[in-house]
Amino acid sequence: KIKPLVSRQNRPAVVAVRASNQNVHNDGFVLEDVPHLTNFLPDLPSYPNPLKKSQAYAVVKQTFVSPEDAVAQNIVLQKDSPRGVHFRRAGPREKVYFKSDEVRACIVTCGGLCPGINTVIREIVCGLSYMYGVDEILGIEGGYRGFYSKNTLTLSPKVVNDIHKRGGTILRTSRGGHDTNKIVDNIEDRGINQVYIIGGDGTQKGAALIYKEVEKRGLQVAVAGIPKTIDNDIAVIDKSFGFDTAVEEAQRAINAAHVEVESVENGVGIVKLMGRYSGFISMYATLASRDVDCCLIPESPFYLEGPGGLFEFIERQLKENGHMVIVVAEGAGQEFVAQSMPAVDEKDASGNRLLLDIGLWLTQKIKDHFTKVQKMMINMKYIDPTYMIRAIPSNGSDNIYCTLLAHSAVHGAMAGFTGFTVGPVNSRHAYIPIARVTETQKTVKLTDRMWARLLASTNQPSFLNCSEVLHHQEKAGRKTTEVINSERTTST
Ligand code: ATP
Ligand code: MG
Repeated sequence: KIKPLVSRQNRPAVVAVRASNQNVHNDGFVLEDVPHLTNFLPDLPSYPNPLKKSQAYAVVKQTFVSPEDAVAQNIVLQKDSPRGVHFRRAGPREKVYFKSDEVRACIVTCGGLCPGINTVIREIVCGLSYMYGVDEILGIEGGYRGFYSKNTLTLSPKVVNDIHKRGGTILRTSRGGHDTNKIVDNIEDRGINQVYIIGGDGTQKGAALIYKEVEKRGLQVAVAGIPKTIDNDIAVIDKSFGFDTAVEEAQRAINAAHVEVESVENGVGIVKLMGRYSGFISMYATLASRDVDCCLIPESPFYLEGPGGLFEFIERQLKENGHMVIVVAEGAGQEFVAQSMPAVDEKDASGNRLLLDIGLWLTQKIKDHFTKVQKMMINMKYIDPTYMIRAIPSNGSDNIYCTLLAHSAVHGAMAGFTGFTVGPVNSRHAYIPIARVTETQKTVKLTDRMWARLLASTNQPSFLNCSEVLHHQEKAGRKTTEVINSERTTST
């Protein structure tokens, strides 16, 4: 349906001139602004936002977001402290930079699965169609390589009507295959002027490169990223979509483990949950479930033997309760597994190193210790629900959240913003420069109250001696979890 466009060779050359994106004010108010198409295409015309005529928005008191509105990153401030970093508030603008019938949008999904991807796709399509009257929307199939392998799907509200009830992504996904030039050539060739990119940290880095290339070529193309990570480790934003669903589903696995170990003598259940670099899912699932006796995450190094170690804790729990459940995040304790395995250096198609299986390793270690050293019969149950969790459709609250993300992205692209990612900052949706969400990863802070709440709830050891243990390990030439995690990741 999308017509082929003007050939690449005939397009006018436009030189990109862009002002700095950081505006610092006297009172310490900093606006980390996102790029706008008019920054490098100053002659772009603007049009009244069609939402003005929309029935749905007729009742809204203030339909459009003021251009002055900013969302504060820090909301707890002390008197006289600088106001700090702010982001542009997301939402519909009074003027748009695309005529509805000129919009040719495309959506692509990359990286691992996460509950809610289909809902985001659905709401981008329905948002563009119902709010802005856009009817040319293309699904790029199979991730970034779909741009140049020419697999596409025409999307309409009818096509996407039921997809939020399904897990996965109807557009399919892939790893690897990011070729910026080929992708942007294809965007040009197809006459696409709005690109919606749903994916994790790697995908957002790819999106930033696409935006840069689009800007270099001076194209009137808005590039919008919708961050996807089940681990909730995206910097700046409050929470990533699919996280709530994952925490909920994880509890089913924890419950199964609990039922199993409760029903046998000296039952020890291990549930491995997602979390390569950050233990948010494990921490929240543990707090939500109350059946977990010990939660191990990548941020909190632990050790097995000696006073204050995991074996001692397990023994105590078994003596007192007859059973126990351990939740372990996939990225935890990688230094242990690395020591006991031959050096492997496997990578996935995106170049991410593969993680070693801490769940299996821990199960074996506990079994060996109690049967061989302690001469104690124990019943080990190991559950790895990772793929089951990733594959389910999003729950109610994630569905609503996905809708807000998709609508924010649509309003932003229609308003001419580009090179941005959407997400809530202190509960207010904002446009965030893509680089801000890819430069760092959010991790559980062991000094924050949430981790203290978890320790209080499970009564597990804090493994505080661990820094000493690790110091000795490091001196002996062994890598710490931090170092190993920075080199490895899973094949999800
Ligand atoms: P997740 O890790 O949550 O599964 P992800 O987006 O990080 O999602 P990856 O497989 O790492 O998943 O990357 C997805 C896509 O992004 C791939 O097509 C890959 O080629 C591309 N990509 C990854 N890293 C980069 C990078 N640094 N620059 C450009 N493209 C990248
Ligand atoms: Mg990734």
